[in-house]
Amino acid sequence: MIPAAFDYLRAHSTDEAFAYLQQHGAEARVLAGGQSLIPAMRFRLARPAVLVDINELKDLDYLRISDQVLAIGAIARDSDVERAPWIGERRWTLIHDASRVVADPVVRQMGTVVGSLCHNDPAGDWTAVALASRATVVVRGKAGARRVPIDEFLVDSYTTAVGEGEMAMGAEFPAPDDRTAGSYQKVERKVGDFATAAAAVQVSLNADGTVRTAGVALSAAGACAVRVNAAEELLAGQKPSAELIRAASNAAWQRSAPQADLRGTVQFKKHLAGVLVARGLRQALARLGVQA
Ligand SMILES: Cc1cc2nc3c(=O)[nH]c(=O)nc-3n(C[C@H](O)[C@H](O)[C@H](O)COP(=O)(O)OP(=O)(O)OC[C@H]3O[C@@H](n4cnc5c(N)ncnc54)[C@H](O)[C@@H]3O)c2cc1C
Repeated sequence: MIPAAFDYLRAHSTDEAFAYLQQHGAEARVLAGGQSLIPAMRFRLARPAVLVDINELKDLDYLRISDQVLAIGAIARDSDVERAPWIGERRWTLIHDASRVVADPVVRQMGTVVGSLCHNDPAGDWTAVALASRATVVVRGKAGARRVPIDEFLVDSYTTAVGEGEMAMGAEFPAPDDRTAGSYQKVERKVGDFATAAAAVQVSLNADGTVRTAGVALSAAGACAVRVNAAEELLAGQKPSAELIRAASNAAWQRSAPQADLRGTVQFKKHLAGVLVARGLRQALARLGVQA
């Protein structure tokens, strides 16, 4: 189908993008990679009167890594993350795994991590990764920039904390230490499909081998990606074991509240959520040299 008529505004600076967004308010939408917005417009699921294209804002095209944080700018592409020189390090394994299974290589050339967080598809991959990593999103509004924890950023399906006239400038993922590893487990019908179910897992160990912190999140398990608080709490402070992983997997099964669709029944997807969390935990721990 052909999209409804709209005005196209190409911003040449962040201030100009802002001016457009403030001027047009609820009528305007930011255009990043266009990999979700353009299909939605073609199906007339979205009918923005104005598109504000941010692709020329080169100051938002960055991946910056420090001891504290990985900062991803609003127009850094999925493929930039996938090919980053540090992506093979053990502490970034959650992001590494996910960067290779989001959509397909062609979509990843244009799609952005930040756009995916802003789109907040119930079956999106980056939202679950951001939850398990405890990321924050930097949102610029009229009153300046604010850092929004991902749990508050993801409000509901296709709804986030980005308000009228606002824009997400980037996302920040806390840099894990060298006793941290992760895993992203996704079941999809074929390459390029959204998840039937997916689990994002990140585990940090203490020097004595007990779990310091764990991040566990699911995609395709509710209105938007969900944190499995019960699994995180079960794991914290404990020595990894098969029994502990079974308990965390069971917590994921309970937390998962998917919709039945062409990809599977509710029962099947809940079962997968449990299995994928167990698999993810085993893989993250194996990456840390722990068999459980
Ligand atoms: C064939 C196909 C398969 C796909 N498979 C998957 C998949 O398996 N997993 C997955 O997670 N995704 C998948 N996607 C979606 C893809 O990853 C999108 O790129 C991503 O969801 C959105 O990123 P984008 O940069 O293209 O955003 P856009 O499409 O440009 O924007 C999406 C939404 O976010 C808003 N937005 C974007 N950037 C900002 C910003 N900086 N500030 C405020 N609002 C903003 C837009 O206004 C729009 O509402 C698929 C897409 C296609 C076409």
